[in-house]
Amino acid sequence: MTEVEHLPARPSWDCRACGDPWPCEPARARLTREHGQVKLAVLMWDFLEEAARDMPHTPASDLFERFLRWTQ
Ligand SMILES: [Zn+2]
Repeated sequence: MTEVEHLPARPSWDCRACGDPWPCEPARARLTREHGQVKLAVLMWDFLEEAARDMPHTPASDLFERFLRWTQ
């Protein structure tokens, strides 16, 4: 069985598997399972910075909500 992984398509950062804005629910569940909360926050900061470069017109507050709010 081949399952498409819930990973971001760039530069849109929509999920490759389900099309939701990444990190979608399955991606959040996997990231939470694979990383402790502290490491997860560091990881998501890195994703946020990359996404900010890909989406320069998206307000930083929106990116924060999307990438970091759920980790806390
Ligand atoms: Zn997804």
